[in-house]
Amino acid sequence: MIERKALIFNVQKYNMYDGPGVRTLVFFKGCPLRCGWCSNPEGQLRAFQILYKKDNCVNRGACVAVCPAGVHAMDPATGRHAIRPDAECIGCRKCETACTASALAVSGERKTISELLAVIEEDRLFYETSGGGVTLGGGEALAQPEAALSLLTACRQRGIHTALETCGYARPEVLDRAAAVTDLFLYDVKHMDPERHLELTGARNETILGNLASLLENRKNVRIRVPLLKGLNDDDANIEAMCRYLAPFKGGMNCKGVDLLPYHKLGVNKYGQLGMEYSLPGDYRLAEADLERIEGRISGHGIPVAIIRH
Ligand code: SF4
Ligand code: SF4
Repeated sequence: MIERKALIFNVQKYNMYDGPGVRTLVFFKGCPLRCGWCSNPEGQLRAFQILYKKDNCVNRGACVAVCPAGVHAMDPATGRHAIRPDAECIGCRKCETACTASALAVSGERKTISELLAVIEEDRLFYETSGGGVTLGGGEALAQPEAALSLLTACRQRGIHTALETCGYARPEVLDRAAAVTDLFLYDVKHMDPERHLELTGARNETILGNLASLLENRKNVRIRVPLLKGLNDDDANIEAMCRYLAPFKGGMNCKGVDLLPYHKLGVNKYGQLGMEYSLPGDYRLAEADLERIEGRISGHGIPVAIIRH
């Protein structure tokens, strides 16, 4: 039988932020949203992609010679290297190896569930001593539902704690199946207003909030995550709307509270390397006093809250 494969772009070990204890994070490629602040832009497309460091490039065309897909080309007008956006990378990594100037990196690896499990299992001792486990993120792991569900199921069967970091934009039946094999959801809430959510992420939020309510009502363990951006979603009206939304669930043991994720610019340089534009024009960092004010407002509603500083 051919084993299912996941298209991932990173496996991060010894993570202490995305779920309890020491965790191994598996980053899946593909995401239905397009958040302007996304710090993993290579996670958005479910496809192999090239990260190209123009300043390192010596323009000798070693990549052009080895690429079987015609992704790399030399521009006849300038004599400089160019990436053809219409060509489809197959992830063979020949260009990465051929480039001695370290100008190229390929994002994306197809891994079987067994291969991923082998990496995850290496740190079983850490999970057992710290109460940790595995966290699926991305991108959005549920954008590859069968692969994500297979990995969650396999970890569950091996007694490894499972967490799923999700934007919540998934078919309800997919989320239901994930809920059966997920010990903890880390669930993003980006804006409570559907129109504003659409402007900020490219999608409205009704599906996301509907899925969230379903998880909470069905007593699944959920920790809410709020990426906080000054002037975009930190206003009192938005924070209050979220607290009102969570109020019916806050007494339940399964609503684990709110993590505030202050805006940072990590990952901005990857946009240029991917040929993408970073669309947020300003600085959206919040002052410490504003973070504490929002933290106080949420805890004032009796909802556990923490500021996560990376
Ligand atoms: S990984 Fe392979 S297909 Fe993709 S750009 Fe490099 S050489 Fe071409
Ligand atoms: S949901 Fe996450 S991965 Fe998807 S675009 Fe937004 S920040 Fe990026």
